[in-house]
Amino acid sequence: MLGKYLIINSGSSSLKFSLYEMPETNLIAKGIIERIGQDSEYSINFDGKKIKKRFGIKNHNQAINVMFSELLSNELISRIEEIKGVGHRILHGGEIYSSPVLIDENVIKDITELTKFGPLHHPAELAGIIGMKEKLLNVPQVAVFDTAFHQSIPEENYLYAVPYSWYKDYKVRKYGFHGTSYEYILQMLKDYYVKDNINSIICHIGSGASISCIKDGQCYDTSMGLTPLDGIIMGTRSGRIDPSIIEYICKELEISVEEVLYALNRKSGLYGIAGVNDFRDIENLANNGNKNAKLAIKMFEDSIVSYIANYYFKLNGKLDALVFTAGIGENSSTFRKRIVEAISKPMNIYLNEENNNSIASFKKEKSGIISTLGSKHDVLVIPTDEEYIILKNTYETIKKSKEKKLILKK
Ligand code: AMP
Repeated sequence: MLGKYLIINSGSSSLKFSLYEMPETNLIAKGIIERIGQDSEYSINFDGKKIKKRFGIKNHNQAINVMFSELLSNELISRIEEIKGVGHRILHGGEIYSSPVLIDENVIKDITELTKFGPLHHPAELAGIIGMKEKLLNVPQVAVFDTAFHQSIPEENYLYAVPYSWYKDYKVRKYGFHGTSYEYILQMLKDYYVKDNINSIICHIGSGASISCIKDGQCYDTSMGLTPLDGIIMGTRSGRIDPSIIEYICKELEISVEEVLYALNRKSGLYGIAGVNDFRDIENLANNGNKNAKLAIKMFEDSIVSYIANYYFKLNGKLDALVFTAGIGENSSTFRKRIVEAISKPMNIYLNEENNNSIASFKKEKSGIISTLGSKHDVLVIPTDEEYIILKNTYETIKKSKEKKLILKK
């Protein structure tokens, strides 16, 4: 079990990787290969150094070869055999996976089958798994699913009010995403409040954004749906809209459903209204009086507040903490202030301005309470760590499978 573990996050044209020493959870190196299939760019960070290169990498298989040759040439590993396990972030586990799993032929088959729910992500993730398998042969690989955390959601919350056969025959239902982020935050809350039955509303607000309702220590509802398109407004995704818009725009613009969905995923959300999707740019534009940037921030705020209100009622007002996390939640004190002020009266929550202003990932304080002592509920900022959860799950899944094998041998 001692040794080096790789965590892989394959995107449609990128491969992110991190190399850890376990069980110390020591980060040895972190890298990314971007624009696979074009004029690829490669960077790796280790020992405070950053190496950047540019060269053509045709596919994920080649990207994996490049990653290994860099790890070897920079003496981050001395032999490929030093790698004791690999963890993969996988977008969609459907209803099959509610926990991480050791990858075998059946799991590969399931992930292939689930491509229908993750057409952009799964082909790249499968290429990552198969590429690693070719290189590392029998080294255990683990799939950690973004949806698994939400499998505890009860059916009244995961079903859509559509013909029931759509669910029975085609598994149309809410799945939810950002599961590894929620798992991390929930663990932090359990440690902080020293209890398991946490009630919380967790706002994961980054360029992709979702909100989850945690009841009695497990997920009770979440804002994303069958795919990550549903829910609150995001950087480039529309979030919840009237589905009839799709047919209407198809006819008006004479474009296909795929083209409309592309626009809803990539050209909508904050970008659709403000023309830019980086929240720092939007805040700067708004501060300089840009009307659409101000409108985008107001709409973003309203969509988040409506989910918080919904979940607060679902929790019957019993709340240990409202949590802000991810890029915007961790860093934008002005946006946090807007949200807390919008929910202040009905939820009896008041902002501690000093604490709120002192917390950001680029400041000394990265986490803490931003509500006043007199507030009915705590409001916390907690930086998320999805990679840590993938690493922990990978290590523990491999450990458990080894222990099982030992028992079988006895
Ligand atoms: P993530 O997807 O979690 O990496 O979050 C990315 C989002 O966080 C982008 O919209 C960034 O503009 C936003 N973000 C990062 N740092 C800040 C900051 N200091 N102030 C406001 N937004 C930020």
